[in-house]
Amino acid sequence: MQRRPSAAREQLHTAAAYPAATNVNREFIMPATNSVDTALAVHGGPALRTRPWPVWPRSAPGTAAALDTVLGSGRWAISGPYRGVDSFERRFAAEFAAYHGVEYCVPAASGTASLMLALEACGVGAGDEVIVPGVSWVASASTVVGVNAVPVFADIEPDTLCLDPAAAEDAVTERTKAICIVHLYSAVADLSGLLSVARRRGIPIIEDCAQAHGASYAGRKVGAFGDVGTFSMQNSKVLTSGEGGAAITSDAALARRMEHLRADGRCYSARPPAPGAMELVETGELMGSNRCLSEFQAAVLLTQLPELDGENALRAANAALLDRRLSALGLRPQSTSSPTTERTYYTYAVEIPQELLAGADIAAVTAAITAELGFPASPAYAPLPANRLYAPEGRPRYSLGEEHRRKLDRSRFRLPVCDRVCRGLVTLHHAALLGDESDVDDIAAAFDKVLRHTPALVG
Ligand SMILES: *Cc1c(COP(=O)(O)O)cnc(C)c1O
Repeated sequence: MQRRPSAAREQLHTAAAYPAATNVNREFIMPATNSVDTALAVHGGPALRTRPWPVWPRSAPGTAAALDTVLGSGRWAISGPYRGVDSFERRFAAEFAAYHGVEYCVPAASGTASLMLALEACGVGAGDEVIVPGVSWVASASTVVGVNAVPVFADIEPDTLCLDPAAAEDAVTERTKAICIVHLYSAVADLSGLLSVARRRGIPIIEDCAQAHGASYAGRKVGAFGDVGTFSMQNSKVLTSGEGGAAITSDAALARRMEHLRADGRCYSARPPAPGAMELVETGELMGSNRCLSEFQAAVLLTQLPELDGENALRAANAALLDRRLSALGLRPQSTSSPTTERTYYTYAVEIPQELLAGADIAAVTAAITAELGFPASPAYAPLPANRLYAPEGRPRYSLGEEHRRKLDRSRFRLPVCDRVCRGLVTLHHAALLGDESDVDDIAAAFDKVLRHTPALVG
């Protein structure tokens, strides 16, 4: 990889960055130890970096032309008339299924929509319980509530930050209808442990891969392990059409139910109709809702998919460098389960041990890193029982009686690992890993500088 000159490194050579002593041989001073001694940018000192960062999302070769084709096609949605060629949606579904080595893919309007398709197709409904990891994006909980079921939060593993099989097992009751696994921040969960808990009891697994497109475990893509694998193609995700989603499965009955659930109870006809006719057939097999991906979104995804592996590899190479730099500072990068064969990065997550935080709040630390880098560093998601985005009691549609209210009560969950690790986690969006080694140097220098100034952040 070509190394670009780093503005941050040049800044290290300014006189102000050096100690007052003049008899120091500058040749022997590592530049990084100097700039990190200036006041924190968040307190008015010089920022380590002012150079711009890679921008996400970005267009791929062929995207503009594909959008133009949709514009002129006379079909902007699968519910529009058939025009004598496969819809972009159908073509994307075939490619995405093939990419994962599964039989079926049902594209959907969002990751949220795909999770709801998966839950309902697996038979989850009113009053059922679904085991959900205690830390995830709010959709992991809101979708369960959305099908009138109850999310039962279970603790995570401290190293992978993903659902702990033992905690999941403890959370099982006779009402458990599904276990949702999230490959949080792209680390792959302990799939073999979780699958064995579920299989022993005949409980379906929904594998939420919204943060792990392209990751693999024991040589197989994630999403292919659960009864259903779900994906989000929202703006921030590593494969995106702005908004979008998909559910994959190798089970024909699940796929058929999900197809009906996402297209108002309709599914594709077995054979193409005459041009100008509807391709969706009103079978009446299962009532659905409209959760379809548009042809514009499908066209974008078709041109983005070929970029995914290369971008994943670039992010992984930069993340490996960053792991080394931050480990040398005493930090603990998130790890993935050991059978992971391809580690991807939606979010880079690293834990700062409490002794290095030295009493500083993680929100103050991430604000300070953000100010040094000009790139947002954030704490982890707040554990779901305490997450301000998760508030089902504010929605009258979920007032389903006293027993349901009691089961939704979040104060009943104890998640010590979630609570502990989230107090020290710093996360960075994957755009920070789409550049080169000079970006990794800047990130490491920002952590170094901020951690030397923790006393200034206490209080
Ligand atoms: C983004 C995300 C979702 C929801 O996807 P949307 O497309 O935003 O609806 C669900 N689960 C996880 C883990 C996510 O990161």
